[in-house]
Amino acid sequence: MAQRPVLIAIDGPAGAGKSATAREVAVRLGLPYLDTGAMYRAVALLAARAGLGAELDAAGREAVVELARRLDVRFLGDPRNLRVAVEGEDVTGALRAPEVSRMASVVSAIPEVRREMVRRQRELAALAGGVVEGRDIGTVVFPDATLKVFLTAAPEVRAQRRFDELSARGVVARWESVAAEQRERDLRDSTRPDSPLKPADGAVIVDSSRLSLAEVVDAVVALLPPTP
Ligand code: C5P
Repeated sequence: MAQRPVLIAIDGPAGAGKSATAREVAVRLGLPYLDTGAMYRAVALLAARAGLGAELDAAGREAVVELARRLDVRFLGDPRNLRVAVEGEDVTGALRAPEVSRMASVVSAIPEVRREMVRRQRELAALAGGVVEGRDIGTVVFPDATLKVFLTAAPEVRAQRRFDELSARGVVARWESVAAEQRERDLRDSTRPDSPLKPADGAVIVDSSRLSLAEVVDAVVALLPPTP
């Protein structure tokens, strides 16, 4: 029988360290890396550019669904230097803007948008597997993943990490507003009816509050079941 490709699902709230961990685990194991948040962020960016705001009426929701269906998003480069292109434009930096983060959690609550993204994610990881990070990877997208990790950390640690990340990129932000934005986003992500953020059945919960990135990566790799 053909071996199933190795698939590692990493879910968790904002700022838990999912991206950094998923990238390093992918490099360590020579697996592809898939950042599903970037796909929702790409839809959010296009929606914002189309003049749509966080308060969506029925017509606005329909417009967002259409943008999701037509989305042309590509991932370029290796996990550590991943670039995201939308319709051929490099939007890697633009996707990280706080207003795009907020809009991403609005558009990702629309079931038709999720259905479209999940279909693409399954297609992308079907052949070679990979390390896939998001909010619903273990619960919905790949419930029979080789390993499911729910990566979390204390709220103040997660807010500090996001604040440091923004500061490193030269974005001036108030700590309180970064923390508030994160709280609002996590609440929306974990209370939406479709695919709320929660640990999947069988997921291993890893708390990264007191661990370095290298320690988290080691912990995740050590959790992989031995290959038969
Ligand atoms: O992981 P990241 O912060 O880039 O995700 C941005 C937003 O996209 C999340 O706050 C969430 O609303 C949404 N998302 C999702 N499902 C995923 C990945 C991200 O709903 N699998």
